[in-house]
Amino acid sequence: MAEKLINLYSDTQTQPSKAMRLAMAEAEVGDEQRGEDPSVNRLCEMTAELLGKEAAVFLPSGTMCNQLAIHIHCRPGEEIIAHRSAHILNAEGGGTAAFSGAQVQGLDGPGGLFSVEAARAAIRPKSRYNPQTRLIAVEQTANFGGGTIWPLSDIEALGALAQQQGLAYHMDGARLLNAVVAAGVSAKDFSAPFDSVWIDLSKGLGCPVGAVLAGSSEFIEEVWRLKQRTGGAMRQAGIIAAAGIYALEHNVERLAEDHDNAKLFAESLRNLPGIWVDVDAVETNIVFFDIAGTGLSAETFCAALKEKGVDLGGAGARIRAVTHLDISRADVEAAITAIREVLSDAKA
Ligand SMILES: *Cc1c(COP(=O)(O)O)cnc(C)c1O
Repeated sequence: MAEKLINLYSDTQTQPSKAMRLAMAEAEVGDEQRGEDPSVNRLCEMTAELLGKEAAVFLPSGTMCNQLAIHIHCRPGEEIIAHRSAHILNAEGGGTAAFSGAQVQGLDGPGGLFSVEAARAAIRPKSRYNPQTRLIAVEQTANFGGGTIWPLSDIEALGALAQQQGLAYHMDGARLLNAVVAAGVSAKDFSAPFDSVWIDLSKGLGCPVGAVLAGSSEFIEEVWRLKQRTGGAMRQAGIIAAAGIYALEHNVERLAEDHDNAKLFAESLRNLPGIWVDVDAVETNIVFFDIAGTGLSAETFCAALKEKGVDLGGAGARIRAVTHLDISRADVEAAITAIREVLSDAKA
């Protein structure tokens, strides 16, 4: 085993830095559920401002942001239009069905994006036979699509469609700030057409826990009721909100380094035998690559790499690597060396 694990499994693997821990230790705190925690209040104000919304609320996770927003937008038997690879459809324990009784119509499209035409065609005609379409949901960036950025023009066109059809419009912005930094579009502009939008603090921003959901004051009032109902209302939560404040102040611009490292990783992979990667598809901090040509399964490949101190996730022949603030350029180079060794060991 190597001494330092190079953890490319996910950007959820980040460790809070010394400076972040210090900010947490020194946080002013109060009773969050009574609105008396100054650090939580500050984080919510900062996020509402960043996203150009009236109000925001601090929640324990991104999953909870999605599920509470869906619960407010949708009644049982109604339908959500989303990409078939969407987190709400594949990775939230069936929460959409379990908590809201809503179903998801998963659309196809390259890179986790779907076209405005596909969304228009997916809207159900009003009929007693059809589930009624209620919500359009997009992921910025599209996680299982490979960290792909929704162009602002598509975001706006889908928003116009939602408005015209009387549908709610939700952004899963787990990695919105990656899109902001990579595309050079403001978070406000990306968020403007949406009724609800959230950012995750525990992905590339490097916090141990937390997400912030934003929308109109009326919407956030509803979220607060559900937060209370589901046990998400907290007490001296400023101790974790302080990490979020620190991250918004220090860890946003630096996401560009993660994108450069992801690009470097993909470009270096391209030269390895049996590996296929679409370098141009790498727009942010996520790299998907295919190892079918190596003859190794994802399980064997990942286990061999773990022995060499590199953690990656994958299924079938598809492997995912995610760069983040604990991954340096040297780590990327070391990971490539380890992969090269695994491939030559397998050949021997
Ligand atoms: C990680 C993630 C979530 C869930 O966020 P948690 O904070 O882990 O609950 C939702 N959507 C996308 C696209 C994600 O990548």
